[in-house]
Amino acid sequence: MTFLSQALALQIKNLHKSYRSIHALRGINLEIKRGELLALLGPNGAGKTTTIRIISGLTDPDAGEIFFFGHNFKEKKGKFKRLLGLVPQQINLDLELTVMENLIIHGLLFDMNYQEIKAKAEELLHLAELSDRKKAKVKELSGGMRRRLLIVRALLHSPKLLLLDEPTVGLDPHIRRKMWHFIKQIQEKGTSILLTTHYMEEAEYLANRVAFIFNGKILKVGEPSTLVKQIGEYALDVYQNEKVKSFYFQNRQSMEEKILELTKAGFSLAVRRVTLEDVFLKLLEEN
Ligand code: ATP
Repeated sequence: MTFLSQALALQIKNLHKSYRSIHALRGINLEIKRGELLALLGPNGAGKTTTIRIISGLTDPDAGEIFFFGHNFKEKKGKFKRLLGLVPQQINLDLELTVMENLIIHGLLFDMNYQEIKAKAEELLHLAELSDRKKAKVKELSGGMRRRLLIVRALLHSPKLLLLDEPTVGLDPHIRRKMWHFIKQIQEKGTSILLTTHYMEEAEYLANRVAFIFNGKILKVGEPSTLVKQIGEYALDVYQNEKVKSFYFQNRQSMEEKILELTKAGFSLAVRRVTLEDVFLKLLEEN
């Protein structure tokens, strides 16, 4: 298909959405390049799920436009839906059916034939380290396995853009790391990915670029390392009356004078590397 040659997998222009009195999205602009993983990062209620639901056609926006590989999403909604894979925040698998049965139903809904479904399912279950569970009922799987199966299901019809809504929410740290590895592999195979998360370290580890969303607005977009460097390399946390204030420095030398001054004044101090969380907290102060 010729439109797949477009450089941008997704372009969102000035998206607005209100739920009665709540203005959930206040003019969202976003771009995802082909092959890129963009993390939409923000706290609960920031507007992440609403954005994903609009992109996947589950909710209509009040205003704004969506372009998918350069083409207007609204005009040819049905056509583009096949090129999208959606992993919702809620696990909506059929618990009483087996892993393979869940995948077969999804494949048939996307007009795949049985051979195609089996071949693709085998390939993806292998990637997800679920091959030995294909005959198990979903209710017998762990939380981490169910989340990986959700991703396998979303990839079954070979979408070009994968939408992952909080894919590791509620998972143990070591299971989360396994999930990150799986998501990286999917991206390496050429799928563009939009991932929402409120875990800063998840965005830092996985994303080529992050977009900070707060209160229905995108506050900043950039590469994690660039955003961090703009603030500094080292953070000096100063504790006083159960509060902490952070100062940022480009190198250790520039920090030493401040450390001396604050130590003399009797403050408790901690030195650490700057993270995306610092970037976000600073953005909130400025907005
Ligand atoms: P979370 O991480 O908690 O899912 P989020 O960033 O995905 O948060 P959204 O679910 O998009 O945020 O919600 C954005 C705002 O819109 C919130 O204030 C939320 O309460 C409100 N909202 C979302 N869905 C609805 C709905 N169906 N009806 C009314 N308000 C809604």
